[in-house]
Amino acid sequence: MSEQQEYFGYAGTILRVNLTEKKITKQPFPREWMKKHLGGEGVAAKILYEEVDPETPPFSPQNKVILSMGPLVGTLAPCSGRITITTKSPITEIYSDSNAGGQWGPEMKQAGYDHVVIEGASEQPVYLWIDDDRVELRDAQHLWGKTTWEADEIIKGELGDETIQVACIGPAGENLSGAACFIVNRARACGRMGLGAVVGSKKLKAVAVRGTRGIKIADPGKFMKECRRLFDKITGDGMYGMMQQGTLAIPDLAWDGKSPTKIEPLMRYSHAGKVVCDTYEEISCKNAREKVWDRDLACFNCPIHCANWSSIKEGQWKGEKGEGFELNVQEDCTYMDTCDDVWFMPKFNFLCNQLGLGVDEASLPIAFGMCLFEKGILTEKDTGGIRLEWGDKETVLKLMKMVAYREGFGDVLADGTKKMAQKIGRDAEYWSKNIKGAEVIADTRFAHEVTLAEGVSPRGACHLKGLSLFGVHARNMEYLTPEFREEMQRVYGSPSPVKPFDHRWAPYVTRYLNRLMSAMDNVGLCVFSSHYMLFHAVMLEDLPQLIEAATGVTFSLEELEQCGDRARIMQRSFNHRLGLDRKDDYPPRHTFEKVIKIEFGGQTINMVLDEKQYDEVLTEYYRISGYDEQTGIPSRETLERLGLENIVEDLLKK
Ligand code: SF4
Repeated sequence: MSEQQEYFGYAGTILRVNLTEKKITKQPFPREWMKKHLGGEGVAAKILYEEVDPETPPFSPQNKVILSMGPLVGTLAPCSGRITITTKSPITEIYSDSNAGGQWGPEMKQAGYDHVVIEGASEQPVYLWIDDDRVELRDAQHLWGKTTWEADEIIKGELGDETIQVACIGPAGENLSGAACFIVNRARACGRMGLGAVVGSKKLKAVAVRGTRGIKIADPGKFMKECRRLFDKITGDGMYGMMQQGTLAIPDLAWDGKSPTKIEPLMRYSHAGKVVCDTYEEISCKNAREKVWDRDLACFNCPIHCANWSSIKEGQWKGEKGEGFELNVQEDCTYMDTCDDVWFMPKFNFLCNQLGLGVDEASLPIAFGMCLFEKGILTEKDTGGIRLEWGDKETVLKLMKMVAYREGFGDVLADGTKKMAQKIGRDAEYWSKNIKGAEVIADTRFAHEVTLAEGVSPRGACHLKGLSLFGVHARNMEYLTPEFREEMQRVYGSPSPVKPFDHRWAPYVTRYLNRLMSAMDNVGLCVFSSHYMLFHAVMLEDLPQLIEAATGVTFSLEELEQCGDRARIMQRSFNHRLGLDRKDDYPPRHTFEKVIKIEFGGQTINMVLDEKQYDEVLTEYYRISGYDEQTGIPSRETLERLGLENIVEDLLKK
């Protein structure tokens, strides 16, 4: 029996592709990493931490891009189609990663690879073609300049197989736009932080894969039983029906507010949904489902199928079609006030996918520009004569192309709102909503559990690293761990507090969700199937049995939690070596100082974050995470307990 056949769940191989030397090597997946780092983002964080000097410029050939498929990817575990891409970001210039679904990750696992590490940089455009064991770099000069949809079609055509899975960059990545993402299967975006630009800097247009080898399971009978149990948990969850509608269903249900008569610019740029949108019904989930969406779609082996196929049936973009849009596109339209035409959402989404732009990174700088324009901080002198006015859809589409190609004022927008504000000057930076240079999607005034999760996220503002939604988790604490309940008992005198937006429970729920979402990203399951989005579908407690049945590696709940803790610490420690600490875990200053008034339930609510309370929750989060309360840097004791002695040395050098 060969060594490869002895891996279960894991494919057993890390593929390294050095683009400078055109050298392809394969190394066995180290078994000692399974228990310590598990897989996916946990292993990628280790590779980035140990192999990339944090001072490395993001576009240097010394920066690496790590594509990761966790040990459950491509198996029959529900929602097991996720991939993670990890690198140093050109926007935030710190650790960054992004995660996407689709079919590409499972195909890569079936081809035999747990991770693909892209090193160096090519002089000419190339693409990587992986056909099970056969791996080759192919000329991509004819693909350079093509949209992601064109590249996908040409590659499948020249390789003679429509079933091949393709992930690629578009013109945005080629032109090193900070809004560039890595597009999987034409529509699944590894967005945020400009990761597609790092791929572009290496002149790598695409990674195409065909996998036929299958994945071995340690205990098939037990694994099938666990998969069935989780499948039933997901489809039996109280939130399942809503999630089946797509993420757009959330604001339809969640917020029954009424727009104030006058919306000030900061609020328009900061806050999404009905509360800032007079024409919300036009962009509602209900209207999108009736008019735009033709059928539901799902990623690999997913019973939720929150995705959709869309077509534009009326108006100037009539005839365009493709995989549809989700909540962020709707939110982005409210930020820019392009809400009066339901057909604009698919148009905006298709254009982003084709150009290889992240929807948030493309739209938030434009919305920020609109905010500054109304405030008089930005003028036509700065923009080359372009007026940035709320709701101007034609200008938005024009600016998106300028962002992708870094043309004119698009070159300023392409670096995200923090760098954009620094270039503009005139106190513009005060109004930017970013954390560590990454755009904030949810308004950080909303609740402490939102702000804390966004604040401590290692990749900068992020709603996918442990953010609690709408108090759902406060109402379900009986499902959480004994340790968590003990903490609740200590703080409240009760394991189930009744006030969902009480700031004091934010550290505990954030930490639990940090661990849960890290575990999901480590193994390669979609977080939408977890307690993050459903009431109590996949919990941390569900995963040890599933992982053991698939891989043969036993995990206690505590060991699984420690894998999540290690991943977060390695990600944050990459940043600590660059000087980031507690001061960088705060939301934008204006969050504490500028009140946003919202009409809700017949009352006016003043939304502003209490700084003293945020200080308290941040300190408590550090304490329960084993970080120094003054600096947010993990303590020596925590690092030694987790077996991360190498980080002790690194952080002591600082
Ligand atoms: S829930 Fe949605 S994003 Fe997640 S795997 Fe299913 S279809 Fe994909």
